[in-house]
Amino acid sequence: MPHPFEKGASVSLRIPDSTVVVGLDNGGTTNNATVLDAYGEFLVETLAETPSRVQEGPVIAVQALAEAFASVLALTGISRDRVRAVGFDSPGPSSATGVISSLGSTNFRHPGWRNFDFRAALEDLLGIPVVYNNDTNAAALYAHHAHFGLEAPHRSSVAMIVGTGLGGGIVQEGAVIRGSSGMAGELGHVLVQLEGLLEEGQPVPLCNCGQTGDAESFASLTGITMNLLPYWLTRFPDHPLHALPIDKAARAVRGLAERGDEMALKIFEQQAIAIGRVFSIAANFTDPDAYFVGGGVVEAAPHFQEWFLAQVRDHTHLREEQASRSQVAVVPDLDMAGARGAALGALASVTGASINLTGRPVASSVG
Ligand SMILES: [Zn+2]
Repeated sequence: MPHPFEKGASVSLRIPDSTVVVGLDNGGTTNNATVLDAYGEFLVETLAETPSRVQEGPVIAVQALAEAFASVLALTGISRDRVRAVGFDSPGPSSATGVISSLGSTNFRHPGWRNFDFRAALEDLLGIPVVYNNDTNAAALYAHHAHFGLEAPHRSSVAMIVGTGLGGGIVQEGAVIRGSSGMAGELGHVLVQLEGLLEEGQPVPLCNCGQTGDAESFASLTGITMNLLPYWLTRFPDHPLHALPIDKAARAVRGLAERGDEMALKIFEQQAIAIGRVFSIAANFTDPDAYFVGGGVVEAAPHFQEWFLAQVRDHTHLREEQASRSQVAVVPDLDMAGARGAALGALASVTGASINLTGRPVASSVG
């Protein structure tokens, strides 16, 4: 196997060649794990999943993460003494250092989670430094490095990931911007301009955060269920989705959009406009080199992904100089992006610098 440096990595290493970091991605049902070596090469090509057991409370969940750690080392044949740091990500809401919110959340309903220092508990159990990012920030970091490769330390990007909610992340010169309380990049709760977005008679959408008319109130599964679908069904009185309960109907919208259903396309057009309007705001804040979109909406049939990205791009208002330099692209390998981004964060912490990936294909782009 050729030495990775021969592929052009330009990492200034201050760590031994044998060093690795492990990435652990904590989710509602499973943990995914990866190993990243000192040259920025991932040693795991696929998902390496184990049960996360988060519903059973923090003590069991931390043990489950230790098991994920042990099993990915066994999978790759790496000895534990080569692991210099662990990158760890979980869903929020959490602080910049991985303390779960006092309010709990969907994944963290067990009362033991409130104000639980998830990062420190994992570090104590493993006896290895643990570097924390929330899941969207980890995915944004991976998208950034996968897209820019060797140029990553010199580039900036923003990412929005559409799921149940709408997550966001901001990467500046290869590193995640966390903010003073860990809440930088919460792009889903940025208010979007409603003029030209809302249809006549359409109520202003409501978000779980208490605001009206923010990006998540449009561009999320929750937004479809609570806001967009109830309105659009009134415009399409004969639509077959009237026959389903609203949560089931909401999950069916993407499949219909892929097949060209007019109402479903209207719903995704509104989502794309909302995302484009947040990107337009980002253009005036950090003026990024890339705007990433992730989530089910772009993990769809290729023609639909292309259509959606084109809609986002059309509604991202850039100055001519910006438009010629920047791209709208997809967050690649979303199921692995959390673990991989977490690992990148850990490697940066041990090298003291942002690191480049080597030999990674560039993400698909419509820019
Ligand atoms: Zn909100």
